[in-house]
Amino acid sequence: MVSMNEWVVVGGGQSGLAAAWAVKAAGGRPVVLEAEERPTGSWAGYYDSLTLFSPARFSSLPGLAFGGDPERYPHRDEVVDYLTRYAEWLQVDVRTGCRVEKVVAGDGGFEVVPEGGRRLGAGRVIAATGGFGTPHRPALPGLDRFTGPVVHAAEYRDPTPYEGQRVVVVGAGNSAVQIAVELAGHARVTLASRKPVRFVPQRPLGRDVHWWWTVTGVDRAPVGRWLPQRFSTPVLDTGVYRAAIQAGRPDRRPMFTGLDGIAVTWSDGSREPVDAIVLATGYRPGLGYLEAMGALDSDGYPQHREGLSTTHRGLGYVGLEWQRSLASATLRGVGRDARYVVRRLRG
Ligand code: FAD
Repeated sequence: MVSMNEWVVVGGGQSGLAAAWAVKAAGGRPVVLEAEERPTGSWAGYYDSLTLFSPARFSSLPGLAFGGDPERYPHRDEVVDYLTRYAEWLQVDVRTGCRVEKVVAGDGGFEVVPEGGRRLGAGRVIAATGGFGTPHRPALPGLDRFTGPVVHAAEYRDPTPYEGQRVVVVGAGNSAVQIAVELAGHARVTLASRKPVRFVPQRPLGRDVHWWWTVTGVDRAPVGRWLPQRFSTPVLDTGVYRAAIQAGRPDRRPMFTGLDGIAVTWSDGSREPVDAIVLATGYRPGLGYLEAMGALDSDGYPQHREGLSTTHRGLGYVGLEWQRSLASATLRGVGRDARYVVRRLRG
């Protein structure tokens, strides 16, 4: 027997919880399926020193304030606590330890198939599974011939294992810069990237940049109309990161041209032994459970418009980067998209 549900949300991180909030606010009864034991998403897996780039004031999901000093930049563990509180406050049916293996499209609905569990029928499915489970490892020249450790930022915790080593961090985004600067206090570090790092001041004219993005409308501006599609996210900086790079701790170089054995070849032709490479090269949507039904393109990206599937009626997405705006995949912005997707799926 397949139980029938009006709404099934796959993933119980901030995006899944925001989707459940939007369904409930619209009078529905969502069932949230979460693979892990807690509905707190990937936050506990992020590196130990991580503090939010958004102040608490701009880090809440709909309906429940983050709490505490609104101007502070909360630590990773505070987000885990906040999401735990949020899930309790929400009072919806969250089923943890339930990893969805696939979704099958049928006549007028879907069948959601959890690993080793009972199938669920669903009138509408919202996929909200983030990307942390699918770290992106680009095809760098010679990477397969490099014999040292190659670690993705998803596996990086703290600098202790790299004490005294020669390390190359690949990337130019927030994680790349934060990890490289942290490591540079313990190791000799180069930040290697194809493009230079683009800094944006964290507090222009004494106000956090999120305040400016909110009052000017940049935060909500529709991607593709106002904002260019997927422009690279800038690195938010109080001045500390720029100063560290200017001081050469870490130094910044154009991307290396090759790897071989234990050595890296730089763009000027010089070769140098290195101990480890850290790839801070981002993530891809983790939506493998939608592949068989044909909802994804050949690169594994969802085929959608503003979070509404263009292949299957009744299927939506929440929490994709650039889904509708700059803030789509953030604590402050995901609720807006969730409300939009639920409204459109109902209609
Ligand atoms: P996740 O947190 O990844 O949650 C997805 C959930 O889906 C997980 O719990 C997972 O177990 C579950 N899942 C996956 N597959 C399945 C399946 N098949 N079946 C069932 N469940 C499944 N945003 C901000 O607003 N401010 C910040 O300061 C900030 N800093 C960040 C720093 C880093 C290093 C990173 C990587 C991101 C940061 N973000 C920040 C962006 C974003 O807020 C986080 O990535 C956030 O975790 C995304 O939430 P999510 O719910 O979309 O995905």
